[in-house]
Amino acid sequence: MKVYADNAATTRMSRVAIDAMLPFMDTFYGNPSSLHSVGQEAAEALQKAREIMAQHLGCEAREITFTSGGSEADNQAILSAAVLGEKKGKKHIISTKIEHHAVLHTLDKLSKQGFEITLLDVHENGIVTPQQVASAIREETCLVTIMYANNEIGTIQPIAEIGAICKEKGVLFHTDAVQAAPHLPINVNEQNIDMLSLAAHKFHGPKGVGMLYSRKGILLTKIIEGGSQERGNRPGTENIPGIISMAAAFEDACTHMDENSAKVSALRDKLIEELSKVPHSILNGDLEHRLPGNVNFCFEGIEGEALLLQLDRKGICASSGSACASGSLDPSHVLLAIGRPHEIAHGSLRLSLCESNTEEEIDYLLKVVTEEVEYLRNMSPVWRDLVSGKKQFML
Ligand SMILES: *Cc1c(COP(=O)(O)O)cnc(C)c1O
Repeated sequence: MKVYADNAATTRMSRVAIDAMLPFMDTFYGNPSSLHSVGQEAAEALQKAREIMAQHLGCEAREITFTSGGSEADNQAILSAAVLGEKKGKKHIISTKIEHHAVLHTLDKLSKQGFEITLLDVHENGIVTPQQVASAIREETCLVTIMYANNEIGTIQPIAEIGAICKEKGVLFHTDAVQAAPHLPINVNEQNIDMLSLAAHKFHGPKGVGMLYSRKGILLTKIIEGGSQERGNRPGTENIPGIISMAAAFEDACTHMDENSAKVSALRDKLIEELSKVPHSILNGDLEHRLPGNVNFCFEGIEGEALLLQLDRKGICASSGSACASGSLDPSHVLLAIGRPHEIAHGSLRLSLCESNTEEEIDYLLKVVTEEVEYLRNMSPVWRDLVSGKKQFML
């Protein structure tokens, strides 16, 4: 059996998204900046895609800038707010310790340019409270950037409340909604969001395309120089097939959000309930404020990457916040931020589901994960020390 349980890394394109894209690769291949009919057909389709995105976000079409993905949107939102802040002598930015690297590394860059960055701690469940944000805001704060939902542990932040505080204090609020987009409702006005990032490949659209919503009146800073595409905010010939396909995928996700969420969260809950029975394990993230498809556990006494390799041999695609898997020496910054010790964070497993996963697949996942955790523990010298009492169990 082959089970893809890594939908937080990327998703398979849906039929709807592929079908929407194909005509714009051959029949309607024009450049929307061209004045002739072939170009104008592309321009019309581009405008329609913008309107579809806007309708489902509760904003205006002209408040949308198409980008190459979530990372670019995050970079542009943060850099734009920094440039605006600097003009007013405001060089303080608030974020959290569990943001995506597209946010954290952009903030690192700004800190080298003299910005002061406050990274808020999160509670053990991975949540930052509106009160924490309120008390961190100062006279010099130009931006609060906090993700809607976390890609590793699935925690959903109280962004509407955070947005309300920012609005009251006159501070720009950006949210990375890349993980939230297919699963949680978004309305930028009701949720007091000034800027928001999305990426198509996280909701069954194509890779290499995303968007930034920015409330009208916010002057964006270009990160690419060139022509006047995207109202001058994002030069470069538009990725028409990608943009059209993203709009189709987003509309599909929004239309089926309730039924998909109900289905996926039932599968998630079964996984969480059963995996909680594995001795010396712990669920990461919050039980209630959690993305429908996210399951993340730490298993004491094993290495996450070893578990991934074993699972892959059995046809299961998953992910881990362990050091090797993340390509650095330290385990996931998110798991460390919620207080997991290094040794425990190394033994993490993330399963991220989507609506095409089946009950049968969940049963297979449960069987294989529990078997492989036991197998790896039986081979592990660390586990032997734990069982013999030479080392103390932490979980
Ligand atoms: C995937 C992801 C991104 C990056 O999006 P890309 O389109 O891959 O650049 C940013 N933030 C979060 C939360 C993500 O999950």
